Amino acid sequence: MRRPSHLAAAAAALALAAAPATAGAASPTDRARDAGGPLDLLAASLSQQGPDLHLQLRTRGTWGPRQLVSSQQRSLCVELFRGSSANARSRLCVAGRSGSTRAALRFERLSPGGAVIAQRTLTNVHRPDMRTLQATFTPAQVELAVGDYRWRVTSSWTGSPDCAAKPCTDLLPDRGTIHATILPPRVSGCVPKGSSFRSAGPGHRKVVALTFDDGPSPYTSQVLRILRRFRIHATFFLIGEQVGPNARLVREELAEGNAVGDHTYTHANVSGGGSLAYSQISRTRSAIRRASGYYTPCLFRAPGGAVSGALFPVARSLGMLTIQWDVDPRDWSRPGTGSIYSTVVGQARRESIILMHDGGGPRNQTVAALPSIIRTLRSRGYGFQTVPDLLGLKPVYG
Ligand code: ZN
Repeated sequence: MRRPSHLAAAAAALALAAAPATAGAASPTDRARDAGGPLDLLAASLSQQGPDLHLQLRTRGTWGPRQLVSSQQRSLCVELFRGSSANARSRLCVAGRSGSTRAALRFERLSPGGAVIAQRTLTNVHRPDMRTLQATFTPAQVELAVGDYRWRVTSSWTGSPDCAAKPCTDLLPDRGTIHATILPPRVSGCVPKGSSFRSAGPGHRKVVALTFDDGPSPYTSQVLRILRRFRIHATFFLIGEQVGPNARLVREELAEGNAVGDHTYTHANVSGGGSLAYSQISRTRSAIRRASGYYTPCLFRAPGGAVSGALFPVARSLGMLTIQWDVDPRDWSRPGTGSIYSTVVGQARRESIILMHDGGGPRNQTVAALPSIIRTLRSRGYGFQTVPDLLGLKPVYG
């Protein structure tokens, strides 16, 4: 993993190690360590977890961030490549922080000739020991988009006799680069927090949540097509017994960034809570997990909005907040496309939760009203969020 090779004495002479090596008779481990330079690379990983990238670097010797000064030709960097180019497009180098002994990462975007044309400092860096660095950052912070990229780690140092004229370097891997892919982060649920019963957000932000109950149904595809066209997301409260036969629609709802909630297994009145509510909600949760393969809902909506103090703790015990609404165009009663439109745009407020239906009967009026509802609210400055995002619930990834 190292080139060129080094003498043990040469490595020891390099004052990079923050803590001096233990004196005395060398154990086999010490001999192995001294055989390379302090910045000899032992291991590196760069992996995606949800929306974040995690970097871990491990070196043979110990070092402090302030000893890594590129002007003195000591560096520890991750080079990032895009496409088939042999030149790194950018790099992340370990750096010191002014007025601190803590490490940071400096991101540098490079010109084709290798000059630094932009840089920023990343500070979510942790050192569990003097040979290891761990850092967390988003793909956007290192200017990577969804797709393929390549990376490798480089280190260089000077100081020992055979690294005097020209810095010694180590590459990991020794040859070539490591291929990796940035995937869109997949949300697999959310963490319930705060009050168990919500009818709207706190009303600070100019956003609304569109919600659709009683699907999946033959109308679901039409609603999804409209959401896609406007590039917005909604929340679907699903009837458990319809989930299995329409698993493809459930996967499509989730894959396109929408949220999915639990609306009981058979659209039963579960306002009394107890074992009926428990079984209706938990069977639907299982059906959603099975159909999606990964998603667990954290939202429940009671059929007909029939709720009571006995119901909330049952839903909460299954990891779900009970979600009502503050805008109801009664679209299920087929009042006409114009009536659905005017009720929604007339009643929507900051952080409203808007009730509509994509199942449970003919929903052509709802589908017809939806584009103008979105256009009008958008022209008034409203954004559209899923209920978990509107309520600020932390997403679970995986
Ligand atoms: Zn319903």
